[in-house]
Amino acid sequence: PGGRLYNFSAGPATLPIDVLEEVQRDLVDYKGSGMSVLEMSHRGKDYMAIAAKAEADLRTLVGIPDNYKVLFLQGGASTMMASNCHNLAGATDSADFVVTGAWSVKAQKEGAKMLANANICATSKDQKFTTIPDVSTWNLTEGSKFVHICSNETIGGVEFKEVPDVGGRTLVADMSSNYLSKPIDVSKYGVIYGGVQKNIGPAGLGICIVRDDLIGNVRPDTPSMFDYKLMADNDSMYNTPSCFTWYVSGLVFAKLIKDGGLEAMEQRNIEKANVLYNAIDSSGGYYVNPVDKKYRSLMNVPFTLAGGEELEKKFLAEAKEEGFEALKGHRSVGGARASIYNAMPKEGVEALVSFMKDFQARNA
Ligand code: PMP
Repeated sequence: PGGRLYNFSAGPATLPIDVLEEVQRDLVDYKGSGMSVLEMSHRGKDYMAIAAKAEADLRTLVGIPDNYKVLFLQGGASTMMASNCHNLAGATDSADFVVTGAWSVKAQKEGAKMLANANICATSKDQKFTTIPDVSTWNLTEGSKFVHICSNETIGGVEFKEVPDVGGRTLVADMSSNYLSKPIDVSKYGVIYGGVQKNIGPAGLGICIVRDDLIGNVRPDTPSMFDYKLMADNDSMYNTPSCFTWYVSGLVFAKLIKDGGLEAMEQRNIEKANVLYNAIDSSGGYYVNPVDKKYRSLMNVPFTLAGGEELEKKFLAEAKEEGFEALKGHRSVGGARASIYNAMPKEGVEALVSFMKDFQARNA
């Protein structure tokens, strides 16, 4: 549409065109303030209203209970992998990590630096991270401070379909790559965190939703910027926040509410993902997605071509020429990957599928 490419990047990723146009319309003189949001003080009246509305809209959109804080933080999901440990556990404590792919590997490694025991309570490593071990098999540590999952593995394309029941323990979820893609039952989690640069807004912001009884007990040596209580008490403005990203993310929250909320998003995402998975599965083995069907991601669809690497190269080069951007698989796994976040229109997926069929017909 309008000369824009279909951008399948895993993040930073495509944004809704109407949000981009709104940003453009308001850019130079934000609603008569005489300046752009890029330039205004985060403590001024206009920006304070933007920030407050973004939080209120996110609370409405997700249905965040009052006993949860919403934090708008810098440093992305990678920083929160560390700050979660500082806020929820002491140096002599244990936490459990469910390892289902590259990002939960990173979370566990980060935890191992800060915790006495960063226990890998379950892993699908032997299945090449193509599935999720059943919760009944998780080997949880007695007295562990939290259980960490990655709700959607961006590289492997593996997604939790239900919130795992971890008894009375504190569940911590990295939702970076499926944030706001479907309804979230916040009450089942202690902490939900993620970067916004995939499913929400431009890069530079992480959103942390944390139950309020879990904060306020940081270690004495915790850097102030990691302290969720300090951030909550300062409305995420203990220091200068990532103002513009917060603003654009707020526009996306308002749009999602207007478009019918997270149930509607989920329906759309299921439809889009089905179009792509059906094309892969009905290609007679030409295209292959290795993920256990029960756990296939609605957001990130990795696939290979059975014909091998040379054919893959040709596929990716032709796809790029046809206007399908960033389909190359992650450098660690190769192949192709289509990230089809909320803002990817169904037409984009349909266009990709017709290209795939055509490519197969020409190169069978
Ligand atoms: N977790 C997941 C699931 C991700 O996909 C990513 C980014 N690719 C990260 C964490 C790291 O996020 P950030 O770059 O915001 O630190």
